[in-house]
Amino acid sequence: MLSLKILENIIEKKAPGQLVIQLTDRCNACCPQCGMRVTEKFPRSSLSPDEVRKIIDAAAEKGFRALSFTGGEPMLMADELAGLIRHAGAAGIPFIRTGTNGFFFSGSHEKGFEKKISRIAENLADTPLRNFWISLDSALPEVHERMRGFPGLVSGMEKALPIFHDHGIRPSVNLGINRNISEKTMGCLPRDDVAFDHFLSDFYENFREAFRSFYRFVIDLGFTIVNSCYPMSYSEADRSEAVYAAGSDNIVVKFLPVEKKLLFQALYDTIPEFRSQIRIFSPRTSLYALIQQYGNSSEKHSPERVPASAPYPCRGGTDFFYISAKDGNTYPCGYRGNENLGNFCDLTLNGQGPDCLRCDWECFRDPSELLGPLLHGLSNPLGLLRKIRHDPDYLRLWFEDMRYYLACDFFDGRKAPDYRRMAGF
Ligand code: SF4
Ligand code: SF4
Repeated sequence: MLSLKILENIIEKKAPGQLVIQLTDRCNACCPQCGMRVTEKFPRSSLSPDEVRKIIDAAAEKGFRALSFTGGEPMLMADELAGLIRHAGAAGIPFIRTGTNGFFFSGSHEKGFEKKISRIAENLADTPLRNFWISLDSALPEVHERMRGFPGLVSGMEKALPIFHDHGIRPSVNLGINRNISEKTMGCLPRDDVAFDHFLSDFYENFREAFRSFYRFVIDLGFTIVNSCYPMSYSEADRSEAVYAAGSDNIVVKFLPVEKKLLFQALYDTIPEFRSQIRIFSPRTSLYALIQQYGNSSEKHSPERVPASAPYPCRGGTDFFYISAKDGNTYPCGYRGNENLGNFCDLTLNGQGPDCLRCDWECFRDPSELLGPLLHGLSNPLGLLRKIRHDPDYLRLWFEDMRYYLACDFFDGRKAPDYRRMAGF
């Protein structure tokens, strides 16, 4: 039934609609890579549940299939959030996600911790929530906890996971890629006394090892789904335009284009080693496209040469939209803040948008790339054939991602992984 509706969208040459609703820009964490950290001074806003219910109804009416509630920290509004998830499910939206920075995992040695987590898990389990993400930005617990400002968070997370699993919720761990993933990546910056080529080669190796340690670490913690958010650094100009402040110009997330290319290459190369052990949401097709976008200047440092293939334009502003907590208005995404599209309920969808590749926001870039060949094939079959002839590996990669997504039940966070089906990857 679900897939039929999605197929209907695709036949109409549209990506299934996705809406990201920023419930609040309040946050209690102090992450250096984010403009919404608790220490930033700006007037904070939250959307009222009534306002959000109207937006949800309009999204269901317009045929949107996916809804994300983001923040700030969405779990600061846990009770309202649960009600809104129920509302979205009742309105017929099947893919509902939300997440947390995990602040409530601190203090796991205190009396009553298990009860508290049980209550939170029970409350979420009683909704049609499909995916619940928990952020984790380093394979080193003390580094992650220092970045967030919550001591003891990681051991609490480890204690809490079986409780969530018992309630039928399989949280997904969300890595915001940054320079603090491992000890080696922390000091990995260009230096005057090291040849740049040499630095790039170390950079690739250090991130490759960092991704490996991160995957091993989260498997040991008990996670069964993992996702990666690509680094979001802004220039001053972009920062003043962005309506979603989850980015910064801090060096921890700021990378040169050639570093980004190697970063994506390191992740692309690491994923196959772990695909049978944990459900890895990041599609290699999308990483492949990002590697192209960031150029070929460092090919000699990559063990697997990737031939040229242009990325598919992002569907932000075409089929995917963002609602800001600041004014309740609609934007093409969290970054194109100069394009206020007004009240979502009044928005007319015309299936058109500019060919935008301005940022690497995975929430929009990953599904845009995965849906790209289907939409391309329907609107311009010859164009797709040309693309495949120019780069036959692209199609192989895309089919492999699709087979993997099927083996992972499209990352259904209410189901345990089927390791038997994942074993072939
Ligand atoms: S990254 Fe998330 S948890 Fe950290 S300050 Fe920003 S909104 Fe809060
Ligand atoms: S590429 Fe980035 S800036 Fe462009 S529409 Fe997508 S999310 Fe927005």
